[in-house]
Amino acid sequence: MKKGIHPTYNKVTVTCTSCGATFESGSTMKELRVDTCSKCHPFYTGQQKFVQAAGRVERFNKRLEKKENK
Ligand SMILES: [Zn+2]
Repeated sequence: MKKGIHPTYNKVTVTCTSCGATFESGSTMKELRVDTCSKCHPFYTGQQKFVQAAGRVERFNKRLEKKENK
């Protein structure tokens, strides 16, 4: 491998700006900030997703009721 053509791969502390969680990762940057992490992302917590899904099901059921009442 030639020297100098690869960026330095550092061990960085990633800070989540949403929940303040920190975890270690590898990056070419010295410091890393993320908006969502595995701890507060809706996909992992399931909270926001569940609320959205519930609303969607409710709307679907209402539509279904209308159809059946015809
Ligand atoms: Zn987070």
